[in-house]
Amino acid sequence: MATILELYHVDYWQYRAEGNANIVLQYIGPHSSFRTTVLRLRKANRLDGPGTREGEVGAGGTNFGDETITMKNLTKESQFATEVIGLLLGSQFVEQLIAVALPPEFLSSLAKAIEPSRPESRRQKGVDLAQSVGFLALDHTRFIKPAPGQSTVAVEIKPKWGFLTKSAFLRKDQDIKRRKCRFCMYQHQKIKTGQEGGLSKYCPIELFSGTELLVQDALDSLVDTPQNNLRLFVDGKEQPVNKNSITKVFLASSTSNQLQEQQQQRQPTGMKDDDPLDGEDDDSRPAKLTEVLTQILLESPLLKRLGRLQQGLDSLDVETIHRFYAHLLDEGADHLPEPTVEAFLETAEAFMDRTDMNAMMTENQETFEIQNATGLGFEPEDELEELPEALQLHFIREFLLSATLKDCSILVTIQRDDSTAVLTEAATGNWMSSRPSRSRLEVDVGSPEFHEASHRIKFKDEVFVFKITCIDLDPKKMSSVPMYLKKDRAIVSHYLVTVGDREPTCGSN
Ligand SMILES: [Zn+2]
Repeated sequence: MATILELYHVDYWQYRAEGNANIVLQYIGPHSSFRTTVLRLRKANRLDGPGTREGEVGAGGTNFGDETITMKNLTKESQFATEVIGLLLGSQFVEQLIAVALPPEFLSSLAKAIEPSRPESRRQKGVDLAQSVGFLALDHTRFIKPAPGQSTVAVEIKPKWGFLTKSAFLRKDQDIKRRKCRFCMYQHQKIKTGQEGGLSKYCPIELFSGTELLVQDALDSLVDTPQNNLRLFVDGKEQPVNKNSITKVFLASSTSNQLQEQQQQRQPTGMKDDDPLDGEDDDSRPAKLTEVLTQILLESPLLKRLGRLQQGLDSLDVETIHRFYAHLLDEGADHLPEPTVEAFLETAEAFMDRTDMNAMMTENQETFEIQNATGLGFEPEDELEELPEALQLHFIREFLLSATLKDCSILVTIQRDDSTAVLTEAATGNWMSSRPSRSRLEVDVGSPEFHEASHRIKFKDEVFVFKITCIDLDPKKMSSVPMYLKKDRAIVSHYLVTVGDREPTCGSN
């Protein structure tokens, strides 16, 4: 673990964003080697605040086979992302995390300094002042070496569950899960509990479909109703998401300022929210962010792989997973012991063997599902409780890995590339052609080094440089399995009561 003295100045850090489990700070200090880094701190319930709400699993997600969160365990959290998820998703897509020591005085002054910047709605939790380790990571909303004169646009998508279950292990009264995706059903529950005021138009099945029109539609829906599933950053600063900001973001970074001026002249005052590209001749207008994003998501293997892993690792459905869980639980015990990183790694390796995942990436969806089901080696009619206990445990861990992948985010970072030398390379259309950039951190202990692989894509007559990274890959807890079951049943039954089985199948329209 690194002790990096240059980092321990409160003034060098600025509040960036936070989720339920972590707060992210951006480095704004003078040392150029940290210019594109962020610091990730864990959150904890405030002593006087309300307890963790049901359904929130993030806060304790760092426990590894131990009730107390030790420094060792935290270092293991970064191992979980890089080794376990890296093995499943491909290490080139997984963000690097470097564990850094956090002196207590630095941490408490830092917590105090950022408090005014935090949104009211998140303040029921604060920076966990007991943590002695934080994580330094690359700021994936920016490039290590950005092209001069161009803005960097980053889009963070929380895609959620990208599959409709085909599991033969599904309970009969849960059959709706074959037609409506978890996200769409959950929307109704969120309205009931007041978590959301209106339904999202987004459906993950469209985003994961691999079909251009559906992917484009899913992104447009995210722009319309972003909820917490879409965020926009320009040069590392978060911007509001709406049709106007998304459309203008590339215009602002375009070198063809002339075109932008033309747009402004044509636009009468008072109509600023209109799409400035509407009415443009389709071939001559500049690329829209959502169009470029669609091409990137179709060309990169990440989304397809993520969806297949989510589904393959959740082959038995939560009902069967909970049956295993209940069967393995010793009498009087609260929950099963939490898996170690090594146990998760074994699980991931065994899954890759069982499914031949790498080969299956080229199969069509139907063949993938059939092979995945056959690979299990048992069927719903079998006496499931008589399966070897080690195997039952293995499937619970597979399910937990799926839960991590259902909850991660994808960051796509894009910049217009005006250098002419690039055009020929982009024309080859080779996804694997990448230009690795490195950033060496000069530190007193160790020498952590971040690197990023950027790719090029041609859209219409323009060339873009992009990178795509998976973030928020926290391990999920064994003790959450009963909560997962409870939540799943509540979502399904609420959906059936309020909506029923009358809407079109997700991804079919
Ligand atoms: Zn859906």
